[in-house]
Amino acid sequence: MNDIFVEIQSKIKDKILFDYDMGNATWFRTGGKAKGFAVINNLADLKTIVGYSTKIKYSIIGVGSNLLVRDKGYNGLIIKLGKNFNKIKINKNILSVGAGVLDLNLAKFALKNSIKDFEFFTGIPGTIGGAVKMNAGCYGYQTSDNLNRILLLNSKREVQYIYLKDLNLKYRSSSIEKNSIILQADFNFEYSSYDEILKKNIYIKSKRKETQPIKEKTSGSTFKNPPDSYAAELIEKAGCKGMQVGDATVSYKHSNFIINNGNASASDIENLGKKVINRVKEVHGIELEWEIKILGK
Ligand SMILES: Cc1cc2nc3c(=O)[nH]c(=O)nc-3n(C[C@H](O)[C@H](O)[C@H](O)COP(=O)(O)OP(=O)(O)OC[C@H]3O[C@@H](n4cnc5c(N)ncnc54)[C@H](O)[C@@H]3O)c2cc1C
Repeated sequence: MNDIFVEIQSKIKDKILFDYDMGNATWFRTGGKAKGFAVINNLADLKTIVGYSTKIKYSIIGVGSNLLVRDKGYNGLIIKLGKNFNKIKINKNILSVGAGVLDLNLAKFALKNSIKDFEFFTGIPGTIGGAVKMNAGCYGYQTSDNLNRILLLNSKREVQYIYLKDLNLKYRSSSIEKNSIILQADFNFEYSSYDEILKKNIYIKSKRKETQPIKEKTSGSTFKNPPDSYAAELIEKAGCKGMQVGDATVSYKHSNFIINNGNASASDIENLGKKVINRVKEVHGIELEWEIKILGK
């Protein structure tokens, strides 16, 4: 296994870090180690890695704001996009955004350029790659609303544009396959008044502060909202607020958030999630589905 990593390292420019503590790359600030971890800055190197997909496992991540890595770690290569994928450009009537751009930076860019309907990205602490993959959204808006197409490196090492209609973006899901890497997202956009956009940004920021434990070690909403109900409400009514496993707690501020109080292991978090699923099933007869992505053994 390590020989293959050494072989890959000899062919790419960026450095592979071995036995990398994934607590450093996720918002939960806990979890096991990745066999290899690399921040990749160019397409050629991404293609090289994808070319090894029959020999090693790899996984692309953003800033790990929706991710839990199990304590026994990930027996493969975790890839993150580097600064060359952090560009935002206006090309005529299309806003082209690198997949590594932080959602917040896209919202700031849109505000600066008086572009409307990107305000909700102020409320999501991930990258644009993660936002597309999860069809992230809040306060009535979601990533698919303005998306035109994405540029993707697929598992056959082909780089292709895929248009919105073929992405199957639904509530917090997409049909983008696990081994594909989103490189860029192209959005349609319209201009509006700077002051209106600023007002919405401020509203979203304050609403988030008021309703979400944003300073905590968390991954946001743990479970998807089931059809016609809200996971947070079901969890609260099932009496799970404050429920604890090890050092992981169901947030008092937002019952769909699990918090690592400092020393929670990934299994504390996952077991707490399972406890919540069971309790909600008992009380409401509804089975909650994880929104958080879980990696590793
Ligand atoms: C405090 C807090 C509040 C949150 N609030 C919201 C909210 O209001 N609405 C909401 O929707 N989410 C919310 N989230 C969850 C999270 O921020 C989003 O799901 C976000 O889109 C994840 O982005 P990321 O870049 O961190 O992805 P990661 O968590 O790193 O990865 C998530 C998934 O995306 C995939 N992925 C990431 N980048 C790429 C890429 N370039 N190509 C292909 N696949 C990729 C990963 O493989 C993984 O499957 C919140 C999280 C936190 C911590």
